[in-house]
Amino acid sequence: MSVNIPFYHPIDKEVEVFENVYQNKIPFLLKGPTGTGKSRFVEYMAHKLDKKLITISCHEETSSTDLIGRFIIKGAETIWIDGPLTKAVKEGSILYLDEIAEARPDVIVAIHSLTDHRREIYIDKLGETIKAHEDFMLVASFNPGYQRGFKELKPSTKQRFTALSFAYPEASQEIEILIQETNIDPDIAKKLVKIGNKIRNLTELGLAETVSTRLLVDAAKLIHTNLPKRLAVKVAIVEPLTDDLEIAEALTDLCNLMI
Ligand code: ADP
Repeated sequence: MSVNIPFYHPIDKEVEVFENVYQNKIPFLLKGPTGTGKSRFVEYMAHKLDKKLITISCHEETSSTDLIGRFIIKGAETIWIDGPLTKAVKEGSILYLDEIAEARPDVIVAIHSLTDHRREIYIDKLGETIKAHEDFMLVASFNPGYQRGFKELKPSTKQRFTALSFAYPEASQEIEILIQETNIDPDIAKKLVKIGNKIRNLTELGLAETVSTRLLVDAAKLIHTNLPKRLAVKVAIVEPLTDDLEIAEALTDLCNLMI
């Protein structure tokens, strides 16, 4: 096992679940809003299991070709280059498709045969089928569609995965994460988490996304490097959340009372 294991604070039984899912090589879907520790969890588990991790951040242009591979011209020759998915399948790595629903539909089609008993991919440009290495595992993350602006994942696709929801940690756990991540004074960590939970409860603001642990960690980092607290909270928490000047002002006033 690597000595530089990433810090991850377990929230529930996710480590145990991952270990069992990995043992059975079932595809695994991590659901939840951005900044709730999904990527960090996968990094941590890959280290714990001593497996190489290949991460793809999916976006609307991500296609199956990007994942599977392509021919490139090199001098007078045309050679085939494996994409990250093919590499991971061959060498037995953990492949993490971050925000899978954002990718083009052909990506979902390309991974179908990997997500059932076949555990193989078909490379149509080569006319080849490749069986996954015994250690290969597919992990994906998905931001559920109840928030504005995020794409849905078809139920038939979801059913190909075991799935686990990630939410914001309880206050005591989130305080601990802030302290461990940034060495911030516990009293300030407590205040930041209080601010986070206060804003999370202001559902009437209609924010597309609310305060994630990531934003609180960022604020803590800035305070730790001596940026004045209120300014740190404004730039790390309020400004990323909203472009609406009135809402920003109201949130800033609220935060200023709390730190
Ligand atoms: P996601 O992949 O869900 O968008 P990340 O894994 O990138 O979120 O988490 C964002 C940041 O939040 C991390 O860099 C880390 O600082 C912090 N974080 C969130 N949850 C945890 C946790 N359980 N343990 C450690 N750090 C966490």
